[in-house]
Amino acid sequence: EHMGKDIPPKEIKLSPDCELRFEVENSNETVYLELKSGIAEIFGTELVKGKTYTFTTGAKIAVFTWQGCELIVRTKKDTSYIAKETPMMFYLNCHCCLEQLRQKAEDNDTKGPITVIVGPSDVGKSTLSKILLNYAVRMGDSSRRPIFVDLDVGQGHISIPGTIGAMIVERPASVYDGFPQIAPLVYHYGYPGVQQNPKLYDDIVTQMADLVHQRMESSKKVKSSGVIINTIGWVKARGYQHLTHVVQAFKVDIILVLDQERLFNELVRDMPSFVKVALLPKSGGVVERSQTTRAEARNCRVREYFYGTPSNQLHPHMFDVKFSDVKIYQISSPTQADFAPIGTKTDNYVVKLLPEQKMTKILHHILSVSHASSDEEKVNATNIAGFVCVTKVDVDRQLLTLLSPQPKPLPNTILIISDIQFVDNR
Ligand code: ATP
Repeated sequence: EHMGKDIPPKEIKLSPDCELRFEVENSNETVYLELKSGIAEIFGTELVKGKTYTFTTGAKIAVFTWQGCELIVRTKKDTSYIAKETPMMFYLNCHCCLEQLRQKAEDNDTKGPITVIVGPSDVGKSTLSKILLNYAVRMGDSSRRPIFVDLDVGQGHISIPGTIGAMIVERPASVYDGFPQIAPLVYHYGYPGVQQNPKLYDDIVTQMADLVHQRMESSKKVKSSGVIINTIGWVKARGYQHLTHVVQAFKVDIILVLDQERLFNELVRDMPSFVKVALLPKSGGVVERSQTTRAEARNCRVREYFYGTPSNQLHPHMFDVKFSDVKIYQISSPTQADFAPIGTKTDNYVVKLLPEQKMTKILHHILSVSHASSDEEKVNATNIAGFVCVTKVDVDRQLLTLLSPQPKPLPNTILIISDIQFVDNR
């Protein structure tokens, strides 16, 4: 690859505490970036000097420097700008406070800080999680092993949309692909929003919290490093109740509120006094995303699950299974009219087996491959081995064609329908 060497380079000098921001909007555009001198980071991940980083459609990037640096940017249409005002000093202060608590926890063999990041949509919650996790694992010998929990079912930074996930972070995130995944723990939810099945959401959050607390006991380092939890952007009414449920379930010690003073005040008022609540400014660089952009990002995330990213390509498999060889479960939400008897107002959900005559309904749907044994009760309460996508339903031959990251056979024949769809147009 030419790495944009045919495009004239632009040298950019960044003073300390400044950041270069850019967005790649059009599908045929590419931004090539190189660190020429000094030290710089992208959302907490240090750049390697002399390496060319390539950014394509959808990238929304800030290159920040504490010490000052020189960058080389090559792009056909330069829309980058330098920002002198950033909230990075506040974020670094947060990291330093967390470090002190981790050190104290390590000395006393207790649990490190359990931190949740909350705020409305488009304030940079995911970005702040990434920065804090990167700083935690970057610090040489004393580097930590925090647990990252992502409860944002709309985007899915650990797994795909429609799930919640947790993983131990051992190394900084890659500039492109996020944190290297080692045995992530994933629960099926099945929808891109919490309002679609609120009781199921709270239930899986409780289960995840219990497992995360168990996993903290697996090593001294993990235990003292604590947890960073990213949440959904729904903070009003029922959304607020979900947040307070998260705080209780995970036994949160610290709440970082991004941008919204009202939410901050509500939490200060409602939380027990041992929970510390802090208000942080959002970055002016955070890009607001429309419903369409969000839907596209979700689709992109699912595609990546099967096909990988430019820097890490994957080659999925396609195979048939007989209707009779799998058990496909549906976790119906209370909002699905066919399930609640007229006149009853119920909050609960029902787990039922999809009858064979309804198989055509699941064309293009994502199915979660459960770790559950045959027990129906446990389907909604068991973590996920992976996902497949239904690319064809052949009623005559009673066959489903599945797109799968692994070849046949499926690791388990218990599958759960997700509302998330993916049309494989390769
Ligand atoms: P959600 O509403 O999905 O919960 P969020 O609050 O988690 O969103 P992020 O995903 O962290 O927000 O940020 C939104 C977008 O803005 C991301 O694509 C991110 O890369 C970009 N972004 C964040 N900070 C900056 C910055 N300082 N400069 C440029 N882009 C940024």
